[in-house]
Amino acid sequence: MGPDAAQRVGKIYGSNHGQFAPVTSSLDSPIWVHSSAVHGQGVFATRHIAAGETVIEYVGEVARHPHDAANPDHTFYFHLDDGRVIDALAHGNASKWINHSCRPNCVPDEVQGRIFIQTRRPVFKGEELTFDYGLFSDEPMSEALKARYACRCGAKKCRGTMLASR
Ligand SMILES: [Zn+2]
Repeated sequence: MGPDAAQRVGKIYGSNHGQFAPVTSSLDSPIWVHSSAVHGQGVFATRHIAAGETVIEYVGEVARHPHDAANPDHTFYFHLDDGRVIDALAHGNASKWINHSCRPNCVPDEVQGRIFIQTRRPVFKGEELTFDYGLFSDEPMSEALKARYACRCGAKKCRGTMLASR
């Protein structure tokens, strides 16, 4: 396991359990990062957040080619409508720690090539923020692929994978 491998498993298997990190210097930031019961690290509400509030922008390096041979499975890529991706491994913020859920309380909103994570219902203080990754893969759908991106979100209608249904 080199440094790349450690980064690659960041969102999938988690790391830094129990570490706390402030999200921004803003006192009003509604979120913070700490270890999650869902998996690895997660992002949690530090106060009540109303429905429709933008909690954070999903930032990173915008690239044409989503495939990184050293990190084929990492889930920090966010696909934009124009085919480019935001790679949060590079210059990402706390948004990359938001876990997937099949029944999420947030939804990503694309505005002119930028992604904003918004709440889709009111979120209680202390609640973990999630959105549906709807992961995209070039590989044909298979049980092995689904298993590689297995979901354990615990939702009643969990589809068992973080891949988009298609
Ligand atoms: Zn699920």
